[in-house]
Amino acid sequence: MRSVGIDVGGTKVLGVLLDPAQPLDGLGEDRVPTPEGGDGLIGLVAELADRIGPEASAVGVGIPGLVNRRGQMIMGPHLRKLRNVDLTARLRERTGRATVVVDNDANCAALAEQRAGAARGFDNALVVTLGTGIGAGIVIDGHLVHGAAGFAGEAGHMVIDANGPPCPCGKRGCWERFASGTGLGRLARDAANAGRLDAAVELAGGDPEAVRGEHVTAAARAFDPGALAVIGELAHWIALGLANLVNILDPGIIVIGGGLVEAADLILPEVRNRFPDLVMAGALRPEVPIVAAELGERAGAIGAALLAAETAGETAA
Ligand SMILES: [Zn+2]
Repeated sequence: MRSVGIDVGGTKVLGVLLDPAQPLDGLGEDRVPTPEGGDGLIGLVAELADRIGPEASAVGVGIPGLVNRRGQMIMGPHLRKLRNVDLTARLRERTGRATVVVDNDANCAALAEQRAGAARGFDNALVVTLGTGIGAGIVIDGHLVHGAAGFAGEAGHMVIDANGPPCPCGKRGCWERFASGTGLGRLARDAANAGRLDAAVELAGGDPEAVRGEHVTAAARAFDPGALAVIGELAHWIALGLANLVNILDPGIIVIGGGLVEAADLILPEVRNRFPDLVMAGALRPEVPIVAAELGERAGAIGAALLAAETAGETAA
């Protein structure tokens, strides 16, 4: 049975059609810009599903934000008009498909990496997406963890510095203020303004406030000590959050996805170096591989399609 997976991002909506038995052999794909309002999004998701998979009876949708266990969108940081909207019911009505599943986008990406990507073969996996913010999905004993309400895995809002910078969620010092692409930009500007990042400032055109993550990674690739120090600082914050999560969840593998993965060759070795000192009994516990994601920008859509197919299978069984 074929299923459609749709990943709603901040700027684009990506849809794929696949056969769940061979999830990496995409049978169809399309992408469109993310519309403004909620009604526009519902219509667009339905049209996308009709275009790429008119024959598919199952449609999965991954969306950034809090989605409850009934597939209702409670809130999303970038989709303010979609507050307390029963997306699943409205999409089921609009698409006419037998199975419609809506889940958090990071959960979808985690399922994809565990079933078909970098964590395949591991029943217990933590998949962390380091992008503008941080998303995470947890697979335990082969099952995606949703929690009582459906909100499990919001690792980006774990507070790691109670006096840290404010977060859009209303708290202070959330992990994603330090360990995401946004966090790298902030660490870089702090270093640039303190005169410790001249090579990256030069790449940014001479203005310390214009320094972004890509300037730091470019300077670090040229072995600039200031840029390497910022990468080390970023790696510390990533490793600290991972250590907290490993103390609680004990995954067999950690997969890192998202925009920062483009610099995985620079960042991940530093994370691996720091991790054993930050996790409990780091020298005594089995090594937890920390690896880059394999499915790239399609992870969320592939996971949404797999989730829809698995849900349809359970309903049928
Ligand atoms: Zn937060």
